[in-house]
Amino acid sequence: TGEREVLTYELFGTAVRELARQVADDGFEPDIILSIARGGLFVAGGLGYALDVKNLHVMNVEFYTGVGETLDLPVVLPPVPSTVDLSRRRVLVADDVADTGTTLKLVHDFCAEHVAEVRSAVIYEKPRSAVKCAYVWRRTDRWIDFPWSVLPPVTRRHRGALDT
Ligand code: 5GP
Repeated sequence: TGEREVLTYELFGTAVRELARQVADDGFEPDIILSIARGGLFVAGGLGYALDVKNLHVMNVEFYTGVGETLDLPVVLPPVPSTVDLSRRRVLVADDVADTGTTLKLVHDFCAEHVAEVRSAVIYEKPRSAVKCAYVWRRTDRWIDFPWSVLPPVTRRHRGALDT
């Protein structure tokens, strides 16, 4: 159907605790959570608290430009995480969704040469994803509305504007 999958902030709270539960029950004890900005920041923050991991890193990867619009390749934007910080660590990569999986594949390839172990946790994984994530909250093939990106950016209102 053309319907979208809608994640609310409230449901996100449940999702991230259940994702953490999967990781803990699996016995995986990450040294580092590596978030894929920007959507993965929410997931990484929630997992960091739920798993009591304070060592959070960020990787900036841009791929999509809009609904269904993609750049040809995902690109890593600076600052690139220090490979010294990652070396020989158990890394949990956190992202909002694995769609084609191209973004996570790039991150896995980046990590593979440096870290002891890398696993991924995502709220959603789509069936076509090239990367099969170790921890997945829900599977869907729909477009997902995330609470942090569903609304347009907040811009300055000018005097006399009546809208809220
Ligand atoms: P991939 O590289 O796995 O194809 O795409 C990963 C990125 O594309 C996600 O981190 C997210 O920013 C964006 N993306 C992919 N599918 C969706 C979707 O269904 N909804 C939203 N809002 N973003 C998506």
